[in-house]
Amino acid sequence: MNVLPTAPLRELAHQVGFDLVGFARAEPIPPESLLSWVAAGYAADMDWMGERAAERLDVSILLPGARTVISFANNYWRDDAASVDSPIARYARGRDYHSTLRDRMKAFRKTLSLRYPELGTYGGVDSGPMMEKVWAARAGLGYVGKNGCFITESHGSWVLLATLILDAEVDDYGAGPAADRCGACRRCLMSCPTGALVGNGRVDARACLSYQTIENRERQVPEAFRVKFDNLVFGCDICQEVCPLNRRPVFADHARFEPRAVAALGAVELAALTPEQYQELIPGTALARARYDGLRRNAAYALGVAKQASARGVLEKLSGDASELVRTAALWALSQLEP
Ligand code: SF4
Ligand code: SF4
Repeated sequence: MNVLPTAPLRELAHQVGFDLVGFARAEPIPPESLLSWVAAGYAADMDWMGERAAERLDVSILLPGARTVISFANNYWRDDAASVDSPIARYARGRDYHSTLRDRMKAFRKTLSLRYPELGTYGGVDSGPMMEKVWAARAGLGYVGKNGCFITESHGSWVLLATLILDAEVDDYGAGPAADRCGACRRCLMSCPTGALVGNGRVDARACLSYQTIENRERQVPEAFRVKFDNLVFGCDICQEVCPLNRRPVFADHARFEPRAVAALGAVELAALTPEQYQELIPGTALARARYDGLRRNAAYALGVAKQASARGVLEKLSGDASELVRTAALWALSQLEP
């Protein structure tokens, strides 16, 4: 396979809708960072993070003959008035980003395969065993901040990543990793309500409210963490909101990132969602990962934290819910309300 020119690939990436694109050599990733993070227990019960470690660290296992990794990023920041107080993390307010980025990747690969029928590729959007932030950094798109987020110069950390491996070289790998711009700042570490940021951009998922609201969806959340569900029902943006590198966000002017109707709902409405409303509002959004009962459990916690007397009615109803997960959360929330 010939060496591919990057200029038309950059143009194509922008044509299909990606904001940023960069190229890295497909060299193995030193194992220490991933393995020590998993060994420390910071992955909580996300066993898949430790599984397939060999593939995560060496993309030539995923695509024999891998030479290049292309990293793409999309800005998703919006400040639509209807969703400004939403208890849902910004990335999850619109259409599921997986499908948005996958569609763009699909369009990119389709053109690529027409131009280079012999080319082998392997792609993923936050799903395959690929260390997307490592590749984005190597490709020069930015760096991993102390908040564990990938931070770009142009869009701050309000970006979503996609990764594509090629079995061909490209003509320009750029200048390599971008400089770390955190400096002496510690704002995210000081602001994280649960102390989940453990240094060097590492996140202890067990303490992170993103993990607790999304991945830990079948058990009660430990009380020390649920008391921090302050207007949080799905995900947590605190360590991004406080970051000075996010001071000048860029509006993501694309319908795919437009908040959906669910983003206009508060914790009371989310707690009171009927199965029919759930079916109408949630499929096709990233919120589906928390599932019906997980979302209502989280919303009940948030109402307990808010000590919102007007939520008593909905919580009393949930205290008799068919789901034990929801019932227990509602009883806890009721115990938090003022008498
Ligand atoms: Fe802490 Fe929230 Fe950031 Fe997790 S997402 S590290 S809980 S501020
Ligand atoms: Fe870095 Fe400060 Fe942003 Fe944290 S808040 S990621 S330390 S710049």
